[in-house]
Amino acid sequence: MGLFEGKKGLVLGVANEFSIAWAVAKRLLDEGAEVGFTHLPGEKMERRVRRLTDPIQARYVVPCDVQKDDDVANAFAGAFQTLGPLDFALHSIAYAPMDDLKSPYVNCSRDGFKMAMEISVYSLTIAARHAAKAMPQGGSIVTLTYFGGEKVVPGYNLMGVCKAALDASVKYLAYDLGPQNIRVNAVSAGPVKTLAASAVGDSDKLAGLYEAVSPMRRNITRDEVGAAAMFLLSNLASGITGEILHVDCGYNTMGSPGRALEAA
Ligand code: NAD
Repeated sequence: MGLFEGKKGLVLGVANEFSIAWAVAKRLLDEGAEVGFTHLPGEKMERRVRRLTDPIQARYVVPCDVQKDDDVANAFAGAFQTLGPLDFALHSIAYAPMDDLKSPYVNCSRDGFKMAMEISVYSLTIAARHAAKAMPQGGSIVTLTYFGGEKVVPGYNLMGVCKAALDASVKYLAYDLGPQNIRVNAVSAGPVKTLAASAVGDSDKLAGLYEAVSPMRRNITRDEVGAAAMFLLSNLASGITGEILHVDCGYNTMGSPGRALEAA
């Protein structure tokens, strides 16, 4: 019997088959979960996502723009109505306007900053609020973050500041929702080729750096991120909340590039 037999939840952030959210969803499905999905509104987005969710006969697939309060509220209320009480929610969403993302952080615009923070950080807060209403028996919420919120990763710019705020949100949300038996954690993933990653400057060079520097001398796979998120969403992690779990082949533990420096 799968770990998620009889469990239900909502996954926010599938754009295509390369999305981290899809890797997590696949793991959840393999373990017997019933998974609902949200996608960015628009015909093209819906078509891309339905190409993945139709074959698995997902019962709940709805548009949701996290910039709209009603969209988020309706997504969770509808999931509750269609699927019943939820056990888990995955938040796998980030965005910053290209000009602001590509420029040094010191130059990011006020509007770009607001938009990036709203979509990449506030979306977790509002999602957690509505998820909690759909989890009367408690549950688990997981988001996706990156090391660039803890230390400076050149090229990550504005998104690094968003991830720092996201990491802090995970801890405050864990505190707020803990009494309702709702856990909130993050997976901090190493570089994975996705739509969002292609917007970040030098993403290929970054992958090379992980291969050279991380203790395991390789990059992570999408499926490894999926497995770790699935673990945090499951009852196996029942005592874990407010945690940032690094899935990066150990890259974050390094204080210097080690042998990679000698080879350079
Ligand atoms: P992705 O492009 O597949 O996913 C990003 C998702 O955000 C998309 O589904 C997109 O539709 C959604 N989104 C953007 N604006 C939205 C809005 N206004 N409303 C609703 N949804 C919106 O890329 P991904 O790499 O799978 O990104 C998922 C998460 O993983 C992001 O938070 C990203 O920062 C994080 N992450 C990615 C990597 C990586 O290397 N790919 C590493 C660490 C963390």
